[in-house]
Amino acid sequence: MDLSDNTNLFGAPPSADRVLREEGFLKLSRYPGGYAPDLKRAVARYAGVAVENVTTGCGSDDVIDCALRAFLEPGDVVAFPDPTFVMVPMFARLSALKPVPVPLRAGSDLDLDVEGLLATGAKLIYVCTPNNPTGTVASRAALERLVDQARGVVLIDQAYVEFTRGGDFLDLARTRPNVLVTRTMSKAFGLAGLRVGWGVGAPSLVAEVEKARGPYKHTTLGEAVAVSALTEDVPWMEACAAEAVENRERLRGGLRALGLEPLPSEGNFLLVPVPEARRVGEALRERNVNVRVFEGLTGVGDALRIGCGPWPLMSSALKALKEVL
Ligand code: PMP
Repeated sequence: MDLSDNTNLFGAPPSADRVLREEGFLKLSRYPGGYAPDLKRAVARYAGVAVENVTTGCGSDDVIDCALRAFLEPGDVVAFPDPTFVMVPMFARLSALKPVPVPLRAGSDLDLDVEGLLATGAKLIYVCTPNNPTGTVASRAALERLVDQARGVVLIDQAYVEFTRGGDFLDLARTRPNVLVTRTMSKAFGLAGLRVGWGVGAPSLVAEVEKARGPYKHTTLGEAVAVSALTEDVPWMEACAAEAVENRERLRGGLRALGLEPLPSEGNFLLVPVPEARRVGEALRERNVNVRVFEGLTGVGDALRIGCGPWPLMSSALKALKEVL
């Protein structure tokens, strides 16, 4: 079983099956709208914003990548807390930008080092909350201070927001001129294979991202399924997210009983510091349990990241861990 990528382990949303069967074939012969008009309308309704506030991309990866290219020139600094989502420094390098990691604050909350991030002078600061891979969240006070004092754009990646208790920062995207919040259909909505993500921000920010994005980033099928999920499957998504969170905390109890101390998490995963994580990860894989291995994470050291979903999967992971530790 694969617990390595923080996707929805309960599967894909119910309306996807109907849309693919009833509409999928008919849609194949025609182009989608260049800038995803149907998807934008559905996102705007779901997020409570105007269509002008919405951009979309081939996964939120693409929205992040386009934002880096929209707001930065080769050689510019992009700052981000460390550790965080590994694709950000990778995208930065691909666009000849300078990635500058700023360690999360020491201590159990792992909040943002606001002064450290501001001191980089970056024209774009990336913040992921809940943060991948730690699962920890940025405090509202720290994030608002960062947004108020940043010299440029603050991109807030909320790929895991559906699992938080009140850690939603869409309000900042609605009210601040320099905030772009990115979200995805890949995690709680169970549609990682579709490659659909979106961003919300002031119309002028969104327009810049769209210029870097270019047209035709979605397939007709991807757009149709994402629209139906956002329109019809929100209760299903919320039920899956609630169960993933409940099982995350149950898993935490089981890990503690093994002498491990996972970080506090508001995502659908737990980061568990474990010495010799590579060896442990390989031994788990031999038992058909695939988790994500991290070595030497700043402030954490070696760790395993375990995606959370149905309890039988969590229980099998615990059993395998008990055998290999
Ligand atoms: N942001 C974070 C924090 C993620 O963990 C991921 C996926 N691993 C993404 C963005 C990208 O997701 P997608 O491109 O599937 O929307």
